[in-house]
Amino acid sequence: MALQERIVNLRSDTVTVPTERMRRAMYEAEVGDDVYGEDPTVNRLEAMAAEMFGHESAMFVCSGTMGNQVAVMTHVSRGDEVIVEADAHVYYYEVGGISALAGAQPRTVAGINGIMRVADFEAALRPPNVHYPRTTLLCLENTHNRAGGTVMTPAETRALCDAAHAHGLSVHLDGARLFNAVVKLGVKPVELTGCADSVQVCLSKGLCCPVGSLLSGSKEFIAEARRNRKSLGGGLRQAGFLAAPAIVALTEMVERLADDHRHADQLAQALASLPGVRIDLGTVQTNIVCFFVADANAWVAALQERGVMANAMGPTMVRLVTHKDVSQEDIQYSIRMLTEVASVAKR
Ligand SMILES: *Cc1c(COP(=O)(O)O)cnc(C)c1O
Repeated sequence: MALQERIVNLRSDTVTVPTERMRRAMYEAEVGDDVYGEDPTVNRLEAMAAEMFGHESAMFVCSGTMGNQVAVMTHVSRGDEVIVEADAHVYYYEVGGISALAGAQPRTVAGINGIMRVADFEAALRPPNVHYPRTTLLCLENTHNRAGGTVMTPAETRALCDAAHAHGLSVHLDGARLFNAVVKLGVKPVELTGCADSVQVCLSKGLCCPVGSLLSGSKEFIAEARRNRKSLGGGLRQAGFLAAPAIVALTEMVERLADDHRHADQLAQALASLPGVRIDLGTVQTNIVCFFVADANAWVAALQERGVMANAMGPTMVRLVTHKDVSQEDIQYSIRMLTEVASVAKR
């Protein structure tokens, strides 16, 4: 193999590095001990998030996983049942935390492009019976990672929230990539978050922060969530150094996500014409491109040799994620390498 012309890292938007403005904000951040509630920058970020997501209160957490798991721990009691979409991150990629940390059991319902139908959700509910767990929580995901970054609309979100609330369940929204949905749909964040009881939003993905997520909910919910965060070792001290770039992210890193979406669309259009590649263009809505080949690991290895880094998400599924640190030239180069790999790969 000839020397690679360049390296394009399309494994995830988590690989993004903070901008100059973020680094400056970190350096200049006014800080205090956040476990005592005395970090002014964290307090400013949390107030901003609560307002933005339409909740009374919000809290900075170390990661999306911590935000989701703290939320589940706060919503449920031991032995409860949690309804999740069958490919949801909170169920698929969080080390069994629903069971291990919250002591609850997940019940999966398959969605279409990651979105559960209300009737399928309702069919999974249980009537009161001494044999049954109590079903107390519904988890939603927007955008949906394994479905390919698919977007749930305000109407779809509201329909599921209304159904859950009518049956006495709470709703947690895993909005790791919420802002990708916000930009795609051209809506305000609150239109996608306001009807959920809690929301987790990642700062360290497309928004380019080094670390962190936000969890929002009612005043009582966040007060209890702070205890659960502490129990997981997530009580941070001068966390203002992490909150400062998050404030930059929320104020100036959202609109540029449209560039990532355009780049993902270019990759998807090119893939659709390649031999041995199966792709549903309908699933390519934001910054994730999932496609299917005979041998995903062989594809990922062949791409890696050519300087394009991708993830195999299953035996036949490959995922590419676009982000700030991928340029238009990087996309053109990646399309050339994808074309080359398609021409040599086993079908
Ligand atoms: C990445 C991701 C998470 C977890 O975030 P981490 O910060 O990596 O722990 C949760 N949910 C979804 C949908 C994600 O894509």
